[in-house]
Amino acid sequence: MGVLVVTGGSRGIGAATCRMAAQRGWDVVVNYKGNAAAAGAVAADIAAAGRKAALIQGDMAVEADVIRLFAEAQKALGPIGGVVNNAGITGTGSRLEDTTLETIRAVVDLNVTGALLVAREAVKRMSTRHGGQGGGIVNLSSAAARLGGTGELIPYAATKGAIETLTIGLAKEVGGDGIRVNAVSPGLIATDIHDSTGDMNRMNRLLPGVPMGRVGTAEEVAEAILWLLSPAASYVTGTSIQITGGRL
Ligand code: NAP
Repeated sequence: MGVLVVTGGSRGIGAATCRMAAQRGWDVVVNYKGNAAAAGAVAADIAAAGRKAALIQGDMAVEADVIRLFAEAQKALGPIGGVVNNAGITGTGSRLEDTTLETIRAVVDLNVTGALLVAREAVKRMSTRHGGQGGGIVNLSSAAARLGGTGELIPYAATKGAIETLTIGLAKEVGGDGIRVNAVSPGLIATDIHDSTGDMNRMNRLLPGVPMGRVGTAEEVAEAILWLLSPAASYVTGTSIQITGGRL
């Protein structure tokens, strides 16, 4: 399947995507920011699945780190065929009137600026216009882009609205250059991200709003990501798949 770069691959949806990608035949570049031990465990599982893994630390909110990630990834494993633009944070949850500039900037820096930079570098590496072989980009949006993050995470929700727009615009821009660009839009997925809002009960609090009556798993999101990257989705671009258990 080629070489897949996953930003934020050490935990949660990114880690599940890395592991499943290896099982489906991808060699995988696992980017992480701070959790080297968790990233190392993901890399070990990729190797156990018989695929190559490269571990590359880097803060996806920092342009130099994003550029270095793609350079080191290609050097380590060869030409890149897929990118999962996954690294993201929620910031501390609060009503907007109680949200600090620091939180807003941190969320926008990674979820919007970082995602744009990752998409830009992905295009430079994969576009047939630049001598690449083509490939796929999957951006991590969120149901929050539609629901709005009311009462807790409006800055986060707004950044995911930007991801939806990035996905549409870039899909059209590079549609003739061999690159498909799509998004997944997960609802409540069981990962550590909810605790980072400061509300340790967030998943239970929001559960009654899920028609299927349960939270989703990181693997259920990874399945959609890997389908979008696969030849089975060869005519799919510019779309966003809702993975929400019916929480629309
Ligand atoms: P998570 O469990 O909190 O994991 C976040 C991952 O991103 C970790 O691997 C972390 O690496 C990495 N990361 C954080 N900041 C980074 C940075 N500046 N540069 C590079 N990597 C960084 O999150 P998740 O729940 O899997 O979420 C993954 C994506 O799905 C996010 O974009 C999120 O917005 C989106 N999403 C999640 C849900 C959900 O319910 N879980 C729903 C909708 C959308 P380290 O551990 O090494 O720091």
